[in-house]
Amino acid sequence: MKKISPELLRDSIQCAMTLFCIWVGYRFYLFYQWMIGNSDVAVTKPGAVEGFLPISSLLSLKQLFTKGIFDEVHPAGLTIFIAVLVMSLIMRKGFCGYLCPVGFIHNLLNKIGRKIGKTVTVKGKIEFGMLIPKYIALAFFVITVFKMGGRELQAFIRSPYNFTAEAKMMLFFTDMSITAALVVGTILALGIFIPYFWCRFLCPYGALLGILAKVSPIAIKREEDKCISCGKCNKACPGGIEVDRKQTINSPECVGCTQCINACPVDGCLNVTDRLSRVKLPWYVIAAGSLVILLVYYAAAKFTNHWDSPYPLEMLRKYYMMM
Ligand code: SF4
Ligand code: SF4
Ligand code: SF4
Repeated sequence: MKKISPELLRDSIQCAMTLFCIWVGYRFYLFYQWMIGNSDVAVTKPGAVEGFLPISSLLSLKQLFTKGIFDEVHPAGLTIFIAVLVMSLIMRKGFCGYLCPVGFIHNLLNKIGRKIGKTVTVKGKIEFGMLIPKYIALAFFVITVFKMGGRELQAFIRSPYNFTAEAKMMLFFTDMSITAALVVGTILALGIFIPYFWCRFLCPYGALLGILAKVSPIAIKREEDKCISCGKCNKACPGGIEVDRKQTINSPECVGCTQCINACPVDGCLNVTDRLSRVKLPWYVIAAGSLVILLVYYAAAKFTNHWDSPYPLEMLRKYYMMM
């Protein structure tokens, strides 16, 4: 029987999560069609679709902190957002490494790039310059949300725009304009040649998670005395990290994917380690921990009625018809 390697585990979880997201998207499409009167088949809204609204969730999080109000427009979105933030604080960027479907698409694009031998390594000052845009985008969102007063926040959260945000997101993909298709196509094409192009250089969500992951107690450690300086870990790393130059990898680019461990030919040279106690952990702990955190938050939200929106469907239908 084939031994489960870090690569196989990661590919399997990413694939399963992506299939799940496609199913969620399809269910939401059916729900939308029913809501706008194009179908007679009643479908319940899959709450997980709200996980694709991190900006709305960031506003809801501020409302939760400042007013103590848990968002009732996209409660599942806020639950997923909090789970992902907590995940990053504990399990590094486990969300990026295993759960995000865009990360899986980039994983596949990277495999294509390697197969055809056309990947480009972005290093040094060019890498530094290319990393800046995602932090600028993140700063823009955070400052905008920070500046919003209580009334503005409430007005946005209860606006028809916010109520219909996931439908707008779906229509962006189903009725894509030529300009949008060109932009998305270019980003995907670049992902073949520049590994994880969107994730590494443009995604503000990933930038936020990377900053939070800096305090995570879990990190990859390299045993210098065992290392043979073969550089295989560097080539395997989706974060473009020079693993063979560090003792502990605490970069905001590390997604905890353990592909460096997968590539390393020396047993026990790279390990997932608890930085506080220096105890070596099983290599699959980030994958397992990330999944457990997500499921615990989902179960807690379901159990405490913080998953499904209590707003009447007729209200949502009215907003959908106005779009
Ligand atoms: S960087 Fe962004 S798109 Fe990439 S895996 Fe992370 S959250 Fe998803
Ligand atoms: S350092 Fe290792 S665990 Fe971190 S992103 Fe690179 S390959 Fe993945
Ligand atoms: S793959 Fe392992 S042995 Fe090779 S450079 Fe990286 S840490 Fe050292």
